[in-house]
Amino acid sequence: MAQVPPTATVEGVSIDTRHWIDGTRVATSTPNTSSTPNTSSTPPTFTDHSPIDGTPLAPIARGGPGEARAAVVAARTAFPGWAATPPVERARLLHAVADGVDARAEDLAAVETADNGALLRSHRRGVMPRVAHNFRYFADRLLALGHEDFDTRGHTNHVSWDPAGPAVLITPWNAPLMLASWKVAPALAAGCTVVLKPAEWAPLTASLLADITHEAGLPPGVFNLVQGYGEEAGAPLVADPDVRRVSFTGSVPTARRVAGAAAANLVPCSFELGGKSPLVVLADADLDLAADLAVEQYDNAGQVCLAATRILVEEPVRDAFLGRFLDRVAKLAQGDPRDEATDVGPNIHPRHVERVDGFVRRAVEAGAKVVTGGGRNTALGGNHYLPTLLTDVAQDSEIVQEEVFGPVLTLQTFPEGDDDEAVRLANGTRFGLAATLAAGDRDRAARIGARLVAGTVWVNCFFVRDLSAPFGGARSSGIGREGGDWSFDFYCDLKNTVTAPKGWEAHHE
Ligand code: ADP
Repeated sequence: MAQVPPTATVEGVSIDTRHWIDGTRVATSTPNTSSTPNTSSTPPTFTDHSPIDGTPLAPIARGGPGEARAAVVAARTAFPGWAATPPVERARLLHAVADGVDARAEDLAAVETADNGALLRSHRRGVMPRVAHNFRYFADRLLALGHEDFDTRGHTNHVSWDPAGPAVLITPWNAPLMLASWKVAPALAAGCTVVLKPAEWAPLTASLLADITHEAGLPPGVFNLVQGYGEEAGAPLVADPDVRRVSFTGSVPTARRVAGAAAANLVPCSFELGGKSPLVVLADADLDLAADLAVEQYDNAGQVCLAATRILVEEPVRDAFLGRFLDRVAKLAQGDPRDEATDVGPNIHPRHVERVDGFVRRAVEAGAKVVTGGGRNTALGGNHYLPTLLTDVAQDSEIVQEEVFGPVLTLQTFPEGDDDEAVRLANGTRFGLAATLAAGDRDRAARIGARLVAGTVWVNCFFVRDLSAPFGGARSSGIGREGGDWSFDFYCDLKNTVTAPKGWEAHHE
């Protein structure tokens, strides 16, 4: 069968967009080589478009069950060797990956912006250095893992962190390489081999990461990449019986399908899902800071799982807060994310913009008032949606309960001094990813924070994330925690080896 090698040049960067399996580039063959083959009419590639202007960027290999299986077999075959590789050597290789990310940071930033529309300046200054840091951090953490032995009646207990096996990592489009590295780095550090399936709307930097891991010297089969649609390439990966861990970041409905497939094999899942996080503004807060924190929620055009999209303001300061907030919104520059001056870029895809707009239209029909924004940015066109704030929203309404994943915030109030009501509103969704408090009185903030259902609570700050801290969500926002040793906990099967004292055997006889 003819092999079609999809490649592309994006922002001057040459990208091989085939799969990366067992240390080689693999195109999707037609029909798919698997027990459940694609129909012969299924093309071997799909087209990836830029959210900036809709231009086709690249043909991407469209994987199916055959590629998924080949990648898992490669990961399974490479696993014993990688697991047995001394931690110092694994750490050295991960540092080499980090160096490779640093060396190609400009390419990665430019390609990521073209592919997912997030700001080039954030990719350059924040995201790509963070990607490299993810690899370095988990390499170093591996070497610092505790191996404390302890004693039971003269017997030694030795607890070891044994890598679990091949891990499937499924990532979304809103922060593609950042979230991929957040999974790939700890999994590889732990000694697992991996198969990464990036999102079909922003798959390009994953292809560059394959090159970087290769140049860094990772053995074949340790890092594998399967491109394609979720249902075609992701579903067979998470259902494969040779997979030992699944780490997934994405939407709640997809998580349910992934959990079902993994459950059939009793495979543990780590899920980082959506959020509908609150920003609680207390009356004694620094209102300039509170307004800054609120406007920050439009970053990445609102496509951030952690975003505090529900602003809850203590009644006496509602108007003072709102005035400061609107002043800042008026100054936001919306436009091309490659432009240094731009603050808010486009959303990812026309279908996604339609979805965002649907939420806003239904909210307005239900009685919400548009304070600012409220529709597409018609001056810019394309996928640009105006930074939007809605008031007069009911707690049980769709716009308050569902994740929009666009630049859309709601504002509600609670009576002065009524912490119970603030907590009731803040906790009143099925999510529990994060919560942010703007407060003058830190004791009151601590009292309220202690009652919030959230994986992370920020007080007078936002998005400060140390890799040593546990990260994840409560309720429908996720399962499990990653970061620090919690990541190793997930990617390892802990083993306790109990050894009898010398001479005990003779005594026992
Ligand atoms: P979104 O709706 O934001 O695109 P999804 O949760 O659907 O979020 O997608 C997140 C990731 O999950 C993507 O890489 C997507 O391809 C993948 N995916 C979608 N459906 C499945 C599935 N059934 N099994 C495994 N992965 C899937």
